[in-house]
Amino acid sequence: MKLAAAPFLCSTGSVYVLENLVAQRVKVGMTAIGANDVANRLKDVNDMWAERKVTCQICGGRLVHVMGLVPRHVKSGIVCIGGDNVPLEKSTALAAQQLQATKDRIHKLHGTELSSATRVVSTLALRIEKYRDHVPPAGEWQFCVAFHTEGVAEVEALAHKKLAKHLDRQAPFGEVFCCTASEATEAVEAALGELGLSDTARRRTQLPSPLNWPRTPSHGWSP
Ligand SMILES: [Zn+2]
Repeated sequence: MKLAAAPFLCSTGSVYVLENLVAQRVKVGMTAIGANDVANRLKDVNDMWAERKVTCQICGGRLVHVMGLVPRHVKSGIVCIGGDNVPLEKSTALAAQQLQATKDRIHKLHGTELSSATRVVSTLALRIEKYRDHVPPAGEWQFCVAFHTEGVAEVEALAHKKLAKHLDRQAPFGEVFCCTASEATEAVEAALGELGLSDTARRRTQLPSPLNWPRTPSHGWSP
């Protein structure tokens, strides 16, 4: 079914497909700001995947490690106790300690303090669960294709919906699917079609040089 482009489809950006052949995973994401944001996103994804950027056991922040440790950092105006500690990728002990300490004092709390502690408990429990049997991820992410389009958020959301059964819930970041790049690309193309954007979207299969993205559409873009 083809829908007419609706007025809410105003935000322009790129829906991209990245592929990791070794891990047999794809990532379907979007960018809406900046001139070279798909290339930056790819770098960011590889930094997280290769664990150059690691995860704080306490606040879940992603930071470039210093000698294998989460560097000192501030979260919500307070120095986070996850700083100078091993990241979640190496251990969940500190997160488990914090979870237990929060559980121990939760019965004394009321109102906003209680709801905030309840949120901390469920966030920490999920984070520990996710990293309990953490296996260092293999391979490297590569760029496959990007579609520069209006309604970028709607296209991405619809593509994710089509790929939902392949979602990898264990991946260290979101929007990762256990399928091939061509399946993911087909999902994005189908989403563009259903939203009436196939004719206006521009496709590229190579990352641009930083200066040319996306100001010179002829450079690597095809209709
Ligand atoms: Zn932290």
